[in-house]
Amino acid sequence: MSLRLYNTASRSKEEFTLPEGVESVRLYCCGPTVYHYAHIGNLRTYIFEDILRRTLEYFDFSVNHVVNITDVGHLTSDEDEGDDKMEKGAAREGKSVWDVADYYTKAFMQDIDRLNIVQPKHWCKATDHIDGQIKLVQTLEEKGYTYQTSDGIYFDSQKFSRYGEFANIDVEGLLEGSRIDKGEKKAPTDFALWKHSPKDTQRAMEWDSPWGRGFPGWHLECSAMALHFLGETLDIHCGGTDHVRIHHTNEIAQSECATGKQFSRWWMHGEFLRMDNDKMSKSKGEFLTIQLLLDHGFDPMDYRYFALNSHYRNYLNFTWEALEGAQTSLKNLHKKIDKLVLVADVIESSKAHFWRDTFRASLGDDLNAPAALGVLNSMIKDTDLSEPEKGALVLEMDKVFGLRLADPYPIAEKKAAISDTEIQGYILRRKKARDEKNWVEADLVRDELAEKGIVLKDSPAGTVWELI
Ligand code: AMP
Ligand code: ZN
Repeated sequence: MSLRLYNTASRSKEEFTLPEGVESVRLYCCGPTVYHYAHIGNLRTYIFEDILRRTLEYFDFSVNHVVNITDVGHLTSDEDEGDDKMEKGAAREGKSVWDVADYYTKAFMQDIDRLNIVQPKHWCKATDHIDGQIKLVQTLEEKGYTYQTSDGIYFDSQKFSRYGEFANIDVEGLLEGSRIDKGEKKAPTDFALWKHSPKDTQRAMEWDSPWGRGFPGWHLECSAMALHFLGETLDIHCGGTDHVRIHHTNEIAQSECATGKQFSRWWMHGEFLRMDNDKMSKSKGEFLTIQLLLDHGFDPMDYRYFALNSHYRNYLNFTWEALEGAQTSLKNLHKKIDKLVLVADVIESSKAHFWRDTFRASLGDDLNAPAALGVLNSMIKDTDLSEPEKGALVLEMDKVFGLRLADPYPIAEKKAAISDTEIQGYILRRKKARDEKNWVEADLVRDELAEKGIVLKDSPAGTVWELI
């Protein structure tokens, strides 16, 4: 049974296959800008990407999954204006940019864990890849795609004839309309590759480069890190729909001009979560986080179920009533599942195969998760199906849903015996011990936490904790 995925580039569903000789899906997803908590809209996009990753694996593809952490260069407008979001976050909280990045990266990892999103193979931070970004600008410079302004090095979009194709942008029309006020830029669609540090103030994050001290433009990091981890051509590149017009258009322009190769075979975009049918955004100050949902008595799986109940390419409007509805449905599902014995691998009857095939067909039709959830709910009600087969199918389907259906509901009620602040204290104590190579003390901290039912997990982006 085939897997068909919608490709923003062709505006159609296409059968997904890998080219000859490519063994793993080269999957790159644009990650968070860590100047604040992720809101539940951002997390809807990561849930969609998680379903994609799990579905690819369900269809027997192995996946080389990379997600970046933006910790520099993302200005308050996705174009090249406004303040650096990280510096804004630091000013808001009276902390250093590095501390802000560290704090919100950890908070993000915690959300990912709570939502049962599978960790990518590589997390990568923009600030760890400054050299690769500088090299990419140098290549573009050598090939004649750049020009200088008093403000930095810019990509000359008129030199890339296919610039507007991906997002259907009327480049000529924009150029006409911008005659009067385009500043030093040659065209409104040109974008910064490298920005000079301001002359009068010192930035907290800046680096030496062939063009003087400065920092990379936001779009550059994804191209540089994708090239570094996955090579010149990706199989799938994902993000939210807001990225189509500027961020991904610019990633394509700079990557394809630098390498001469197609940057990504598939482009997939998650549609926005809205609130009161308006965009959910951090700049408005008030936004919903997973922690807030927990504080209101919801389990992270309620939100996951709510998100899976709409197709990733449709708008989803958040209301508390709708979340309550998802919670009730999930609870009802658990009431039926919790009676089953969940053991894998007993799928034999033709009826069980029918349900498996229907489930697979729903996912294979551009990740139709709402239809797949419908299949799960109908399968459980099927009186012709044996209980062990139902249990086996629940386990199999949950490999894709990731709803922790084998755990009794509610999952979030497993609360830690000590507060998050206390756990962070333990994590710091262990980090200090490890920095000093005091392995005995580091192990002691781990053991003390284990006694309290907490396990630590290390990743390149930091240490997070989980209940055992
Ligand atoms: P950011 O941290 O702002 O760079 O965004 C992280 C991811 O969330 C990106 O893939 C965005 O496209 C996506 N995103 C931003 N706002 C929303 C929203 N309201 N609903 C769904 N996805 C969003
Ligand atoms: Zn990106």
